[in-house]
Amino acid sequence: MKIETLAIHAANYTDSASKAVVQPLVLSTTFERDEDGGYSKGFSYSRADNPNRRMLETVLAKLEGGADAAAFSSGNAAGMTVFQSFQPGTHVIAPNDMYHGLRNQLKSLFNGVLAFDFIDLTDEQTLRNHIKPTTGLIWIETPSNPLLKLTDIRKVVQIAHQHYIKVVCDNTFATPIGQQPLSLGADMVMHSTTKYLGGHSDLTGGALITAREDDWWERIKQIQQMGGAIPSPTDCYWLTRSIKTLPYRMRGHVYNAQLLAAYLEKQPQVEKVLYPGLPSHSQYHLAQDQMLNSGGMLSFLIKGNAEQAMRVASSTRLFTNATSLGGVESLIEHRASTEGPDTKTPQNLLRVSVGLEHIDDLIADIDLALSSL
Ligand SMILES: *Cc1c(COP(=O)(O)O)cnc(C)c1O
Repeated sequence: MKIETLAIHAANYTDSASKAVVQPLVLSTTFERDEDGGYSKGFSYSRADNPNRRMLETVLAKLEGGADAAAFSSGNAAGMTVFQSFQPGTHVIAPNDMYHGLRNQLKSLFNGVLAFDFIDLTDEQTLRNHIKPTTGLIWIETPSNPLLKLTDIRKVVQIAHQHYIKVVCDNTFATPIGQQPLSLGADMVMHSTTKYLGGHSDLTGGALITAREDDWWERIKQIQQMGGAIPSPTDCYWLTRSIKTLPYRMRGHVYNAQLLAAYLEKQPQVEKVLYPGLPSHSQYHLAQDQMLNSGGMLSFLIKGNAEQAMRVASSTRLFTNATSLGGVESLIEHRASTEGPDTKTPQNLLRVSVGLEHIDDLIADIDLALSSL
């Protein structure tokens, strides 16, 4: 079945007890045992599993073409589970423009536990030079945040697998509608479901989807269930509900982002637009090759300094000056000040999460804000 159909039907069943067309929300934390002491429905206690979480994990696995999925209480909890699944002393290679929250997590929580190098993953030779006998994981994030740089998933996987190294891809920006890393050879996909999958800026969550149910995956599920960083049944319910419209929401996000990127590129106040769907993007051909669409995120550099960039972000009326992404409402942010003092993000960069408002209104709003320069 196609992804639009899977998004609606993979995690939905008609409830046999009530004939409700939408799966019920099960809040119970505990489940009755059978006469023989077993749990024939597969549920015993809600940290271990819950019907809404199982349905969410079912649809996530289907959307990414994986064997199984594990849902978490945040994207960072999903990322932390991956890092915790490796033996102490394992060497991890991650992109030098990795999502700052996970980069900080590695540097502060895993300092002394794992060894890590943050490198330019778009350069094949740099990657080869950093592989050690202890390297266990290569973390990919593509398109990257906020520079929209692409990593060639097939190529990294090919190099990694020659050395028996696992590849995990943070697919938050692209979503399964825009990119299918498992089909390109990645071993696992990570999502912050807080973003496009949730889609309405009203829940926090994360997920891992595996290509194979192997020993590594067993370890991941063990950390999920014993560590307990699980989403509530209510969050799973809303997320499953949001995912039903994900394919159609993404069409709108991509359509608007493409037109906004083209508009921005023509403005005299704009130095550069970073969007994988523009022929001017330095990796446009890679985008065409490995992505199914160009996504709903873009960044642009204004001709000006940090202060002027901030002024643009606070002069919009439709775009809200706020961090995060993937919701139906458009957001704009001055990324360098969000990331903090050690950021390498250019001070004149504004990151935009293009929402589902009418494109004419979005362009008019940005046009007005740019005229403040
Ligand atoms: C937001 C985000 C995360 C972290 O997810 P949370 O849900 O905030 O914990 C990880 N990677 C990317 C690319 C993100 O945008």
